[in-house]
Amino acid sequence: MDASERGKLLFKLADLVERDSAYLATLESLDSGKPFLPCFFVDLQGIIKTFRYYAGWADKIHGSTIPIDGEFFTLTRHEPIGVCGQIIPWNFPLVMTAWKLGPALSCGNTVVLKPAEQTPLTCLYLGALIKEAGFPPGVVNILPGYGPTAGAAISSHMGIDKVAFTGSTEVGKLIQEAAGKSNLKRVTLELGGKSPNIIFADADFELALEQAHQGVFFNNGQCCTAGSRIFVEEPIYDEFVRRSVERAQRRKVGNPFDPTTEHGPQVSEEQQRRVLELIQSGITEGAKLECGGKAPPTKGFFVEPTVFSNVKDHMRIAKEEIFGPVQQIMKFKTIEEVIERANNTEYGLAAAVFTRDISKAMTISAAVQAGTVWINCYNAMSCQCPFGGFKMSGNGRELGEIGLKEYTELKTITMKMSGKTS
Ligand code: NAP
Ligand code: MG
Repeated sequence: MDASERGKLLFKLADLVERDSAYLATLESLDSGKPFLPCFFVDLQGIIKTFRYYAGWADKIHGSTIPIDGEFFTLTRHEPIGVCGQIIPWNFPLVMTAWKLGPALSCGNTVVLKPAEQTPLTCLYLGALIKEAGFPPGVVNILPGYGPTAGAAISSHMGIDKVAFTGSTEVGKLIQEAAGKSNLKRVTLELGGKSPNIIFADADFELALEQAHQGVFFNNGQCCTAGSRIFVEEPIYDEFVRRSVERAQRRKVGNPFDPTTEHGPQVSEEQQRRVLELIQSGITEGAKLECGGKAPPTKGFFVEPTVFSNVKDHMRIAKEEIFGPVQQIMKFKTIEEVIERANNTEYGLAAAVFTRDISKAMTISAAVQAGTVWINCYNAMSCQCPFGGFKMSGNGRELGEIGLKEYTELKTITMKMSGKTS
């Protein structure tokens, strides 16, 4: 298919998602428990923009001519990889689908996509929109199924040329291993995080407080980017903890379809149990539980917004990805100390710094090992910006122009010139 035709189909898909965005947000909210309003205004709008962004790229992906030594003419072509397997998590089902489908289709690949068992509904509906947009049959194949069977079949399949995965580091390792043991398919991984959020005493206090709160509790705490290690400079530590507790206690927990709700249930009973178990470990290891910590008596897999102070770096709640509404607040004294502690993790997805001092902000930005650094903001993301992890937070980047690179093979073509003019 001509590249501009691929672009046209992606634009059409974006229009159809926009047409049905209220329906899709409703379905996503029902399936996952995420509050409807942010799902409509953040998730769905982001998805539409992502499809349009990659629609625009379709006919602008081109190689170069290279002046190599000798009587040769050299050019490069960016060709589609082929069949791309895509394995999707449950925390942002449709957002992760758009991040993966957009560049894959823009570059001319075909796709076999497996949604998470907990949240397959919006992906399936998107399948209907893909048909309606007019993509040829077989270009996008949506196959719900379980990870160890359907997912593993994708990562070990000899006929699949690339696999893109978002989810836990544990499963990311299995996927890379399966790729290595089968056909060495290309692998991109977007895995977990334990992102540091560093707050200096000179920061805009109210801004830092609210951003630190949203940075952990957004999407019921189920974010790979969650700023779940909050380092606060000593002079403002006590006040920061007190006000964070106040804010967490004000967080409105309830029915995801109530427009005043900020916070819905966890995605499943298994996740609720996992989060409560980690909270218990925090108490046992001696952190101070400031508020929350329990499952409220309401029906559903809710966990109360929880705040811990006096958290030490060696505790499980300071090291493991909790993926729930749990805020860890630690104290620091010097910039050298906080850089070392921030980097003392196997993860490297994101980081943030709050300060009015530009030199501190840039020192931290350069020193932290993370794929994304936010200064005086949190979770400020957009389809134009590359996203991905250092260290065990993943391989490769999604989004932006660089995201296209992960969906093409580069071919170098060199032709001998005869040197004769007639
Ligand atoms: P997970 O197991 O990593 O699930 C993510 C996706 O991988 C799902 O589609 C899953 O299928 C699939 N999968 C599972 N095992 C597989 C295998 N052996 N081969 C191929 N695919 C496989 O995540 P989870 O168990 O649902 O959640 C556990 C923890 O992972 C969370 O607590 C959180 O810490 C982390 N997590 C991170 C992200 C992120 O955005 N980085 C997202 C989700 C979870 P199923 O349909 O069977 O689940
Ligand atoms: Mg799983």
